Amino acid sequence: MRSIPAKLVTWDEIADWCSSLGRMIVDSGYRPDAVIGLARGGWVPARLVCDELVTKNLISLKTQHWGVTASRDGKARLVGELQEDLSGRNILIVDDITDTGDSLRLAHDHAKTLSPGGIRTATMLHINHSSFVPDYYASEVDKDKWTWFVFPWNYYEDMSTFIREILAEEPSPEREIASLLRKNHGIIMTEGRLGRTLSRLEILGLVRQIEGKWSVLVEEKEKKRR
Ligand code: ADP
Repeated sequence: MRSIPAKLVTWDEIADWCSSLGRMIVDSGYRPDAVIGLARGGWVPARLVCDELVTKNLISLKTQHWGVTASRDGKARLVGELQEDLSGRNILIVDDITDTGDSLRLAHDHAKTLSPGGIRTATMLHINHSSFVPDYYASEVDKDKWTWFVFPWNYYEDMSTFIREILAEEPSPEREIASLLRKNHGIIMTEGRLGRTLSRLEILGLVRQIEGKWSVLVEEKEKKRR
């Protein structure tokens, strides 16, 4: 079972960070003709930044890096390419966070090959060990305080990973799960929220409850892979 620090990010924090980004970009005088949201983490921030700038031209680009919550899935790579004609246009690439910096660098280098007029990058959070520093970021995270940020759009995916890791050790009642989430990840949840989360994961066939204890439901296809 991994013990990695994690933080449940609220929608209010997302709104604050994106509004700061909007302010910074506007104040800098940069006027993007197109905003590129990196799938998947950059989609919501990119959409909010578009609104901050009253820009309708939102484009998606997909990069892939992290597999299961908080574990890198090999090298960062582009999944697909930009199809739009961006030559001479000012573009802004938006992501949620720079951690290694690899995804943003990859997207930046790909966009550059399309001869845009200007390229700038923006993230809500920037961990200061990242090899790529965005032009705009709303909040800097010290590398010694590295945290896995559970963004609201990744809540079930991340919680499912953490909870299933706990239950893979041994089937446990809800209060034990709550205590291990706190101990291993610093995640503190109300009883109601954890209960609703477990129920959702149960409906989705990811965990099950028998006589008050929760356990991981190993799918047939997962079993075959082992
Ligand atoms: P960046 O592209 O800027 O370096 P990475 O390549 O390190 O980011 O990671 C790609 C994606 O993985 C990020 O856009 C984000 O969605 C997710 N991610 C990486 N690090 C974290 C973290 N510490 N907390 C939450 N999500 C993260």
